[in-house]
Amino acid sequence: MAMYRQAAETSGLTLGVEKIDDLVLTHLHGDHSNGLEAFAFARRYLYQPSTRPRLHALPEVLARVWDKLAPAMDGATRAESAMSTLEDYFEPCPIEPGVPVEVAGLKMEVRRTAHSVPTAGVLMRSGSGTLGWSGDTEFEMAHIDWLGQADCIVHECGEHFKHTHWAELDSLSEAVKEKIRLIHLPDGTEVPDGPMRPLREGEVLDMKNC
Ligand SMILES: [Zn+2]
Repeated sequence: MAMYRQAAETSGLTLGVEKIDDLVLTHLHGDHSNGLEAFAFARRYLYQPSTRPRLHALPEVLARVWDKLAPAMDGATRAESAMSTLEDYFEPCPIEPGVPVEVAGLKMEVRRTAHSVPTAGVLMRSGSGTLGWSGDTEFEMAHIDWLGQADCIVHECGEHFKHTHWAELDSLSEAVKEKIRLIHLPDGTEVPDGPMRPLREGEVLDMKNC
């Protein structure tokens, strides 16, 4: 809850667990999925009516998400009820690469990335522009080319195995670099000045001037 409150304060947008009906899960690493448990409990018990949010992910990610959540969430929650399942908390929505789906009024497409576990990059199209989201990934030119359809690309950047190094992104053309904003930088990391600026928490992206 604190995370949403803080994001609302820094962005100036109205945000809250009760306003989010669609979650896009790129992969199951904790820094991308640990919020699911608290989010799902809040939606089920703190807000009425308790509607299930949709959980959009690759089929192989959806197939294992309950392996992660079940030890904390599969208990019976009412005297008369059986064990809980993923479907009690979320509406699972598998997304396949090459098959666009509509999510919250946006047209969404995914592409599998080169990471240590099944992971997807995402393109989101609206009438006002297209956002590309790399997901966690090694540097892969085919992935950059696919993301290049976007007006603004949020790309991960780190120095560790199975992540994309800043120098690799810096080797791209100026035209592509001008569209890239960096995330996933370890705390305290500074990157050299240039067109690829870090995206800060609470910052609101402008598709026309990212
Ligand atoms: Zn990861």
